[in-house]
Amino acid sequence: MVVSNIFQFSTPCFIFDEAEFQRGVAGFHDALALKFKSVAIGYSVKTNSLPYALMQAHRFGCKAEVVSHDEYRLARLCGFAPNDIIYNGPMKSWETFHEAMVGGAIVNIETKRELQWLDRLSEGHVYNVGLRLNINISKVSPEDADGEDDNSRFGFSDETDEFADAVNFISSRSKLRLAGLHIHRTAHSRSPRFYERSIEYAASVIKKYDLDLDYLDVGGGYFGIFPNKPTFEDYAESFYRPLKKAGLENLKIIVEPGNALTASCFKFLSEVIDVKKVDEKTRFVTTDGSRNDIDPFFKKTDYLKEILYKSDNRDTEPLQIITGCTCLEYDRLFTLTNKPRLEVGDRILYNNVGAYTMTLSPQFIRLWPRVYAVDREGEYKLVRRESRAEDIMKLNQSKYE
Ligand SMILES: *Cc1c(COP(=O)(O)O)cnc(C)c1O
Repeated sequence: MVVSNIFQFSTPCFIFDEAEFQRGVAGFHDALALKFKSVAIGYSVKTNSLPYALMQAHRFGCKAEVVSHDEYRLARLCGFAPNDIIYNGPMKSWETFHEAMVGGAIVNIETKRELQWLDRLSEGHVYNVGLRLNINISKVSPEDADGEDDNSRFGFSDETDEFADAVNFISSRSKLRLAGLHIHRTAHSRSPRFYERSIEYAASVIKKYDLDLDYLDVGGGYFGIFPNKPTFEDYAESFYRPLKKAGLENLKIIVEPGNALTASCFKFLSEVIDVKKVDEKTRFVTTDGSRNDIDPFFKKTDYLKEILYKSDNRDTEPLQIITGCTCLEYDRLFTLTNKPRLEVGDRILYNNVGAYTMTLSPQFIRLWPRVYAVDREGEYKLVRRESRAEDIMKLNQSKYE
């Protein structure tokens, strides 16, 4: 990202790097297109639902991958037509489900109530539907599993009768056609090996039921462009190998990257607002950011950060604890030992904080921060202002009189 002066932004804020985002989308697309005739990238909305990012994803040719009626509506408002949407998850509504089915979205059935809803669709039209297949990582790829029984609460299982029942339900209705399978699971390892094996499993199920499908939706769970990590080419190869072996390499391949596309293109910028000394060695450095902004699960112990001193020639301090702006005692971000002293007005830039941060931030004490977008020329603009008390009042019915 080309930014001439980080001090031009008002803090606290997120900074969205458009060029980095496009690099990820194009990189994944091109790697898949080398192996497969037909590919689609579904931007995982839950990973970062910033409307400006959704609109950019649309411009760059992504579909929107949504997992609730609210995300579906948001995607529609950001320019995605129903047939630009991949609709997953248990939290669909009948109204959005109906619009998606009629409008040609990719709809992957997750619940039995959706099967019942299919019967409510009007006749005289053939509707394509997808089914999510249940994946137990311990059974499919033990080396990638989290424990002995890394099962899933998503999809229809072929270990019970439920997958067969769902297939039979669809094939017994002339207005329905099973067009695809969805096999999303995020393994902790994010390893290509896991995809190779889960696709091998999906191929065995396709053969078992002799399914004639249009697509295989492999889901998300990938590393982005990162040193010493699997590349998009590695993932594409891990999809191709088992499909080729099963004679299914002509299926359209759908991916639903979240983390891989959004993590690296968002930065978070905070400013030091106060410094306190509580004993001979310890200085608490209070910033206008919070762990709620960039670590909503309060699990991280450090960050890919840069410290931007407003001036040089600072003395070294033995211990500086950088804290957030909330009144939670544990809103402490990181510690510096024997580093130049931080002072009011210095800034901290956190890199790689675009995935599962903004969508999970509570409106706790200090409401949502603003967001700037920087284009490839280094021009920046405000794409979301900060939320304010007035915004909260607008949602609430009671008035003070
Ligand atoms: C969360 C999710 C994704 C994105 O997962 P990442 O690990 O962020 O890539 C994709 N598809 C579905 C169905 C999801 O629930």
